[in-house]
Amino acid sequence: MANTIKIRRRAFLGGVAALGALHGFSMPARAAVSPSVTNLPARGNIVIRNGYVMSMEPGQVDLPVGDVHVDNGVIVDVGTGLAAPGAQVIDGRGFIVMPGLIDTHWHMWTTLLRNMSGDDRAHGYFPMTTALGNVFTPRDMYYGTLLSAAEALHSGITTVHNWCHNIRTYEHAVEDLRAMQETGLRGRFAFGPARSTPFTQPFSVADLTRMHTDWPGHSNDGLLTLGIAWRGVQAALPNAEGKMEIRPLSPDMYRVEYEAARKLGLPVSVHLNSTRFDKDHIIALQKLNYVFNGLQVIHAINTSPEEMDILAAAGASVSISPASEMRIGFGLPKIAEFLDHKVNLALSVDTTPLTGNADMFGIMKLVQNLENGRSTSEFKLPARKVIELATIEGAKALGLADRTGSLRKGKRADVIMVNTREVNIGPFTEPTYMIVDSAQASNVDTVLVDGRILKRNGKLTAIDTGKLMDEASAATAGIIQRANWK
Ligand SMILES: [Zn+2]
Repeated sequence: MANTIKIRRRAFLGGVAALGALHGFSMPARAAVSPSVTNLPARGNIVIRNGYVMSMEPGQVDLPVGDVHVDNGVIVDVGTGLAAPGAQVIDGRGFIVMPGLIDTHWHMWTTLLRNMSGDDRAHGYFPMTTALGNVFTPRDMYYGTLLSAAEALHSGITTVHNWCHNIRTYEHAVEDLRAMQETGLRGRFAFGPARSTPFTQPFSVADLTRMHTDWPGHSNDGLLTLGIAWRGVQAALPNAEGKMEIRPLSPDMYRVEYEAARKLGLPVSVHLNSTRFDKDHIIALQKLNYVFNGLQVIHAINTSPEEMDILAAAGASVSISPASEMRIGFGLPKIAEFLDHKVNLALSVDTTPLTGNADMFGIMKLVQNLENGRSTSEFKLPARKVIELATIEGAKALGLADRTGSLRKGKRADVIMVNTREVNIGPFTEPTYMIVDSAQASNVDTVLVDGRILKRNGKLTAIDTGKLMDEASAATAGIIQRANWK
C-alpha cells in the first residue's frame, strides 16, 4: 500500500514537471541563494521597432529598418511595420538587432580564478586551477558560475555550454547548475569529473543518472539541457625522460563514462588534438565507433584532413577558443580548413583565467584576424561568416538550432541590441563589419533570453553586480586561503 502511494505520488510529480516544460509555465523555483540575484522578470509582449535587423537566418537578407515582435518567450514575427497590438515598444533606431551570441564551451566555475594564471610553470593555468579547484565548495561553484552568467548576459551571450569539470560531490553540480537557473540563461550543463580525478577513475555514473532522472526539475522550463564533459581515450603525457608521448587511457574510465552518456541519450564533449603533442585522437575514436552527431570536439588544433572528414561525415562539431588557445600556447586553431571540410565549427570562451573576459565580439575579431593573417589575405574570412559561427553555427553545435541562433518566427526569443551610437563603433556604416571589427561587450544595450529582458539600457535587470562582486571577491579570498596558494 505504502509503495503504491509512493509510486503514484512520483508519477504525479513527474507529470506536473513534464506539463510545465511543455506549456512553458514556471515550476516553483527555489529562492535565490545570493542576495545579488532577484527573481527573473516575466516574459513580456515586446516589439523592437525600426532597428537594423540582422536575423542571421540562412537565406534571409538584413532589414535596414525592421521590427522584431516577441510574446511569452516566442518570436511572433520579424518584418517591417508589424502590428503587435498591446506590445511594449522598444525603440530600435541606432541599434543592430540580432540573435543572442552562442558560446559552445566554457568552464564557468573557473571565473573566480580570473587573472590568476601566472607567468611561471608552478603558477600556470593547469596547476593553478587544479590546486584551487580542489578546495572549491559547492557554494564556490555557484559563485563562479553566477559571475560567468552575469558576464555572459553583459556581453550579449544568451546560450552557454557550461563545461563543468569540477564536480567533487553531487551538491557541487547542483549548486553550479543553480546559478544557470537563477540567471535565466539558455544552455547545456556538461557533467564532468572533479579536476584532480585520476585518468583511471570514471565520474559517478550514479550521480549522472540521478541528475538525468531529475532533469525536468533542473531544466528551468526547458532552457537547460544535459550532456557530459568527457576525457577521451588517450592523453599526451610526459614519459620518464620528460618527453611528451601519447598514451591510451583506461577503458575502465572512458568506456564507462561514454556508454553511460549514450545509454541516457546525452551528447558527449571532449578536448582533443589540442597541441602538437596530441594527434590522431579522432581516428582512435572512430576505431571504437565513438564518433556520432552528438559528439563535440574542442580545440582540435592538430587535426588532420582525414579526421576532419570523419567529423563531417558523422555530423560531429568542433569548438575553437582562440583567445585561450593562444594565451596558453596551444597554437593557432584551424578555421578555414574546417569550413572547407564542411565541419560544423563554433566559437567558445573556454576559461576566463586565460582569456581575461568573455567578450564574444573580441573572439569574433580574433577569429577573422587570425585566419586572414595566416593566409596573408585581407579577404579570407568574411565578417558575416564569423558572425554565423557565433550564432547559428553555435546553435547547431549544441543541437539547439530549432529554437535559437537566428531571429525567425516560432523560435525562442533570444535577442540582443547593439548600440551603434557609441564612440568605439560609430558612425553607422556596414553592420557586419561593425559587429566584428568594432563592437565590444559594453555596446550591448539590451538582452532578451527566452523573451525575458535580462539587460536593458546597458544594465543587468535581475543581478546586482555590485553585490555580486562583493560575494565573488569573498569566495575567491576564501579559496586562496584554504589552498594556501602563494
Ligand atoms: Zn576547455
